[in-house]
Amino acid sequence: MRFKKLADLKRAQPREVILAELPREIAAIRYCLDKAFKINELVRDVHHQSFEWYGFTLGSRNRPELVADVGLPGNLDNVRDYANISPELIAAYQESLPEEVVINGWIHSHGDLEFKGFSTIDEANQMTVLDYVTARLRLPVAKREVLIKDLALLTEGRYAQSDLEQGTVCLITDAPVSRARIMETVYGGFCFSIVVGDDGWRRQEILYKTRSVLSGQTTVSRRTAEIEVIDTGKTLTAEEIEVLRDEVRQKIKPITYTLPKLESV
Ligand SMILES: [Zn+2]
Repeated sequence: MRFKKLADLKRAQPREVILAELPREIAAIRYCLDKAFKINELVRDVHHQSFEWYGFTLGSRNRPELVADVGLPGNLDNVRDYANISPELIAAYQESLPEEVVINGWIHSHGDLEFKGFSTIDEANQMTVLDYVTARLRLPVAKREVLIKDLALLTEGRYAQSDLEQGTVCLITDAPVSRARIMETVYGGFCFSIVVGDDGWRRQEILYKTRSVLSGQTTVSRRTAEIEVIDTGKTLTAEEIEVLRDEVRQKIKPITYTLPKLESV
């Protein structure tokens, strides 16, 4: 067999049409960052020492890509449990929120730890949050062609069982066709991850997950992101700080002993 052109040797590339872009940076209103650093401060104030805590970043169903608030769930006081945020814990917190508020990521503090980044423990927790968030907040991000080697095109009412033995996939249409492309929907979602420290530092990442409906192909990726801080004029009021102080007293229990070691690498 001879090929006329080199181009004939190339494998066909599946056609892909992008339907929606997932966020490349994190948009957050300044109030949320103020609140996170205030929690750090209150933890030291209420519990007389620094330690880690975790919460969720919150958006709205209409605008899940904006961090509009930070929510503090009851933190578990057991170190091992802390290291393992369960889907049940996330679901229970989501259920406590108003209908239009959605969890769009998680935020945690390394307190006064030297380690300014995401640990392997954090990565495991990020995957749990990513799975939970994307299951609820997925959207069609692309239509991607499914390349089928032997596509058998059959016409309704005009084929025999032996025809079904042909090809890897059969497409049965109501009228004869000679060519067909099959495009599958790729659903995608994201979650934010922010880590803060007592000294005022912060790092953040966005995690992405996509899944193709027919081929079942699933991808997970991440990127280091910046925060686009949005000033809305909303500030933490003295009253809110007192509410937060109560939350810190009730929901955060000191876990000082082994965690620094766990997250120092
Ligand atoms: Zn961490």
